[in-house]
Amino acid sequence: MFASVSPDIKRRRPLPVPKAIVGMPTFVPDSSLVSDTVPSLNFGDRAKGRQPDMIVLHYTGMPDVEGALARLCTSGTEVSAHYVVLEDGRVVQCVQESKRAWHAGVASWAGEEDINSCSIGIEIVNRGHDWGYPAFPLRQVAAVIALCRGIIHRRDIPAHRIVGHSDVAPARKKDPGEKFPWHSLADSGVGHWIRPAPIVAGEVLKTGSEGDDVRALQQSLARYGYGIKATGKFDTATMEVVTAFQRHFRPAKVDGIADQSTLTTLHALLDSLPAQKASNGIR
Ligand SMILES: [Zn+2]
Repeated sequence: MFASVSPDIKRRRPLPVPKAIVGMPTFVPDSSLVSDTVPSLNFGDRAKGRQPDMIVLHYTGMPDVEGALARLCTSGTEVSAHYVVLEDGRVVQCVQESKRAWHAGVASWAGEEDINSCSIGIEIVNRGHDWGYPAFPLRQVAAVIALCRGIIHRRDIPAHRIVGHSDVAPARKKDPGEKFPWHSLADSGVGHWIRPAPIVAGEVLKTGSEGDDVRALQQSLARYGYGIKATGKFDTATMEVVTAFQRHFRPAKVDGIADQSTLTTLHALLDSLPAQKASNGIR
């Protein structure tokens, strides 16, 4: 009888390299964790020589790896990322870190809008909300952590500048989503995260609310980094930012309603920001 295929054999399954880029000149990977380079055609120069001091995490949101790599690497799609982390933990590099990959799109964080110029983009293979949104395998999470730790070390990335695509583009994006284990990353020294405050009954701020409490909420979200104006009106944009905040920091309930747990968690995060940001303001 034949033994079933072991995970280690599956792990060595060849990468589905898109035909259009077979034979393309490759490059030396920036991280020693990279098992394959699949050079993307989609990149440019970072604006004004801006050095990346931020990491943006994504999910691929496509049914399979083949489609995701083709989309991220072939011309005409206008999208790319520096790294792709497969479900089996393999790390693929598509764009050199010195170059500007096209992963964030229209986005904003801590007052900056050209997020592609100031960040490194990591795509995590996961089908996403539109295709059943499976949990992220432990092996894949471990690879994301190891990859991020290397980048943080090499580039001195502050913890609060490791964010999700939904954090920088809350009106458009859900990735990597509420199933992404930010707490596991934080336990391993990657990113800024605290245990969320318990959900309790009480007063809430929600779509239609107005006044100083709403303005204070908007100011707090903006102080953390979110692109939001302090209008004092809980409008659609505010609901979207609260939703993004919950996906990252209070994932037990993602409803766009600023309840006490959301507010307490936000304030605790601001209070626990690294001293550098607290003393220098938004960098
Ligand atoms: Zn994304």
